[in-house]
Amino acid sequence: MSRIERGSCFCGAIEIDAIGDPFWINWDHDEDCRKAIGGPMTIWIGYRAEQVISITGAPKTFSKTPGVVRSFCGDCGTSIGYQDEGLPSEIYLCIGFMDAPERFEPAAHGYWEQRLPFVELSDSLPREARYTRKRANGFADPRDR
Ligand SMILES: [Zn+2]
Repeated sequence: MSRIERGSCFCGAIEIDAIGDPFWINWDHDEDCRKAIGGPMTIWIGYRAEQVISITGAPKTFSKTPGVVRSFCGDCGTSIGYQDEGLPSEIYLCIGFMDAPERFEPAAHGYWEQRLPFVELSDSLPREARYTRKRANGFADPRDR
């Protein structure tokens, strides 16, 4: 039996199942994600598009960064995830959307140089200045805007 992880928004209007293990999990300290989710940093959980199945509800979407589409609940505002043209066929779900966030341990820090000045973490994970994933060039680098 494959691992199944449920994600749901604060009001419950939107539920998603993610089937199998995520292929990548990382902290993210960049300014765009901070604004988009309203938190000091987040953890993104990477799945292949075919692993993510809608159970109920339809997220709203928003794009400010070329190539990046973010999704959220139009009723309660919970951040659900994003897709990025530079990372085709990948979906990143926000850890706060997942019903069992403790089961998603990150492997690296992305955009470490954009962290807030009071963020001090004692883990020994790699701290990348930019994205933690190799991506098609030319898309959506927060430093290029
Ligand atoms: Zn909601």
